Amino acid sequence: METKYIFITGGVASSLGKGIISASLGKLLQARGYQITIQKFDPYINIDPGTLNPYEHGECYVTADGMETDLDLGHYERFTGIETTRDNSVTTGRIYLSVIERERRGDYLGKTIQVVPHITDEIKRRILLNATKRPLDFVITEIGGTIGDIESQPFLEAIRQLRWELGPTRALNVHLTYVPYLAAAGELKTKPTQTSVKQLQGLGIQPEVLVLRTEHTLNDELRAKVAHFCNVGVEAVIQSQDLPSIYEVPVNMQHQGLDAICLKKMGIEPAPAPELGPWRNFLERRKQASEVIQIGLVGKYDLQDAYKSIIESLAHAGTYNGYKVKAVFVNSEQITHQNVAEKLAGLAGFVICPGFGTRGIEGKIIAAEYGRTHDIPTFGICLGMQMMVVEFARNVLGYKDANSSEMDASTPHNVIDMMEEQKNITQMGGTMRLGAYECELVKGSRVREAYGEISLIKERHRHRYEFNNAYLKEFEAKGMKCAGINPAANLVEIVEIPEQRWYIGTQFHPEYSSTVLHPHPLFMSFVKACTESKSSKS
Ligand code: GLN
Repeated sequence: METKYIFITGGVASSLGKGIISASLGKLLQARGYQITIQKFDPYINIDPGTLNPYEHGECYVTADGMETDLDLGHYERFTGIETTRDNSVTTGRIYLSVIERERRGDYLGKTIQVVPHITDEIKRRILLNATKRPLDFVITEIGGTIGDIESQPFLEAIRQLRWELGPTRALNVHLTYVPYLAAAGELKTKPTQTSVKQLQGLGIQPEVLVLRTEHTLNDELRAKVAHFCNVGVEAVIQSQDLPSIYEVPVNMQHQGLDAICLKKMGIEPAPAPELGPWRNFLERRKQASEVIQIGLVGKYDLQDAYKSIIESLAHAGTYNGYKVKAVFVNSEQITHQNVAEKLAGLAGFVICPGFGTRGIEGKIIAAEYGRTHDIPTFGICLGMQMMVVEFARNVLGYKDANSSEMDASTPHNVIDMMEEQKNITQMGGTMRLGAYECELVKGSRVREAYGEISLIKERHRHRYEFNNAYLKEFEAKGMKCAGINPAANLVEIVEIPEQRWYIGTQFHPEYSSTVLHPHPLFMSFVKACTESKSSKS
């Protein structure tokens, strides 16, 4: 089958959940046996979100091939289990960069370079790129931003052209809008949806399917009204009502026939809807897991999206362990020796979160010490692992001034140091150790057991600093062991204290590869330890 392209646009407001709708549609088409990929095109000018502050843009998600991307790619992978690549995340910055580089090389042979056609052609080339590399039945492209934004215009123009070039059976637009409820009038309002569709039509795009985000159920009359005003059939007006979990969205979308209507519009008579057995099984377990377990997130960002993948990984592992995990944010900037017991009270365990820079790190070190000395399950991820190492050096090895050279370049005890290959790098963007690297698990270690006794794993990285091997012997002699090592570069990737109940730090980010159907083994093992420590306490 020739590749078909589905474009997901959004109107009225941002944060309506385009990423979840894209991921859900991908999941449903995948369940029907199609080869799919989901990609995100973001209209901002940064080359990638790697240099963006999480307050601006939430977590930076990292693909296995080492691209720093938008957090929506995390949803795509968690829903479908299909790995994304650097071709699945494109920004205006990347588009312009390649056009400008080509212009400098003289590739345009003296032409005037313009938004149309040069920028739009580059957008089109990138939209089609994934399907030139592997066989794909459907490419779902989510366009970031909201209709009406100045910066999304070239993307919409590119979609318009592609729809014309590919024809109606190979290109389709699904438009997501919002239907607000006015409490004072007691009414749901469809006008913003109508306006947003008119805006799209003004740009030459007729949406074939509308997904209406709403907090209240839309009755048939309202759906018919939207259909009538927006030139779509009433069967193509789908509602996306708030649900208790994002993972219920695919089932809800299937129930309303989102995938079936997309197929029909593209000339495919849909077979009966697939069962989604394992997915429903996950939802069922989720419902049954009623006992709540509180797990702390020790970090400096007090916003959900900054630690999105960690929160989701905990939720997956919680479900399969039979618990509902409540992730509790603990601001590391506010943790002191005096209040740490109080700050961490009631937690069955905690994650010391990744991060950059000095803000909040002393709190992470204090939390690491508290976890170690009170035998509380503690999971350090990237910077979190590095702070576990610094804490151990200070309080067990006795190097009071031990630090990471990221935080104190002149420390005489740089137990975490900059990697050799990072030392001459001056550019910030895209220059870290990024993407999946191999790691050999040490025989007899806790982590090896957690991974089911396999010897070689691959996990994703995003960092510049690394455990300083000059100290390894001293750490091991005092009980903090290297449990995973990169075979090519001899880098310590995992540390653990085997005497503790669960005290493990990973230089890599396991949270990037936990999915709904395949929860990550380290999170599974960590949450299990948390549930046991909880029951042993009570
Ligand atoms: N700042 C640390 C480093 O660069 C850790 C990065 C992270 O936690 N992702 O090594």
